[in-house]
Amino acid sequence: MLTTSHRQLLRVISESGPLSRTEMAVALGLSKAAMSGLARDLIDLGVLHEAGTVYGQGRPSTRLDLQPEWAFFAGISLIQDPAPMILCDLGGKVIARIDMPLSRDPQTIAQSIAERLPELFKVHPQAAAKIGGIGIALSGFVDERQATCIQSTLLNWQGVPLADIVREHTGINAFIENDAKAIAVHEKLFGSTRDQQNFTVVSLGDGIGCAHVIDGRLYRGNHGGAGEIAHCTIELGGAPCRCGKRGCLDTIASMNAIKEMARVEGFACTTLSDIEQIAATGNAAAIKILHRAGSALGLAIANLIQINDPGLILITHTEDGLQGLFGTVMQQAIETNVLPRYAGQTPIRLHRVSDDIWARGAASIAAHNFLIGPNTN
Ligand SMILES: [Zn+2]
Repeated sequence: MLTTSHRQLLRVISESGPLSRTEMAVALGLSKAAMSGLARDLIDLGVLHEAGTVYGQGRPSTRLDLQPEWAFFAGISLIQDPAPMILCDLGGKVIARIDMPLSRDPQTIAQSIAERLPELFKVHPQAAAKIGGIGIALSGFVDERQATCIQSTLLNWQGVPLADIVREHTGINAFIENDAKAIAVHEKLFGSTRDQQNFTVVSLGDGIGCAHVIDGRLYRGNHGGAGEIAHCTIELGGAPCRCGKRGCLDTIASMNAIKEMARVEGFACTTLSDIEQIAATGNAAAIKILHRAGSALGLAIANLIQINDPGLILITHTEDGLQGLFGTVMQQAIETNVLPRYAGQTPIRLHRVSDDIWARGAASIAAHNFLIGPNTN
């Protein structure tokens, strides 16, 4: 069993990568002798392993890192159809992927997961024995225990205790999370923002998601809805949104919205790159669509910067084409809508991701709970 001290050490390593015993002792404020004891426990348990020697000034030191095969995690995305289902190791590496049919019925979802787990586990002889949890990402609001979906328009759910239902069907600890929040936890735990304490993720896919990590923790807000920029009103009295309001960012700048506007204009295109190509020929309608979408997204991000002053905005996108007009206008709108003293001060990082990003995020939610405990203060 892991003690509180063990978990504190795992948190430090998961946040910073491999560390020497001396570095860990400094990070935790412990004596070298106490740290050696803790590290020995975790090596004996198979949680940590020696990951190479560092030569610098003084004696060479051995760095310790998480043993990737100590535990495995399943992640499922309910925002895609079919729903991707992946298996990750403790290093966040995807080692298997299958698909399952999407359903809106919680019992059917749990049953599908339980039926398909053996196929997922086939990839590694110890995967079934070392499964540390199941994570599920969905579109909607999730309670702070990461157990109940408070509300989801896409799934038509209110108060669905999906984590408990999945646990009953599989016998494995399960956690659920909002799709963008799952990506933020993934990026903090395994991704490109491990060293960032304050950042915001904006996920651009069919819809727009957003999540904040503040002081190293996911910030949920009072009702689990922090970061819902998709439904910020950007155009007063604008087009109706699926949420019931009008003029939401999602109706202007999501990939679905951009493609729908292109379809209405009669363009035969299926990707953002297609529309960028049409705009590059000088087509006024295509230019207008991309300009309007980029301006709206940039304005929303500028407001995020004004409100939270994050150290980084990480824009994850599942489509190519962010280097074109849409992305350029977005960057300009960010710069022109923040206070001059903020202009250019917040790095905007574009991160092209594959369509398993939400399933990976889901697995990261399970890994986070397993390693560190619930993502609450
Ligand atoms: Zn809306």
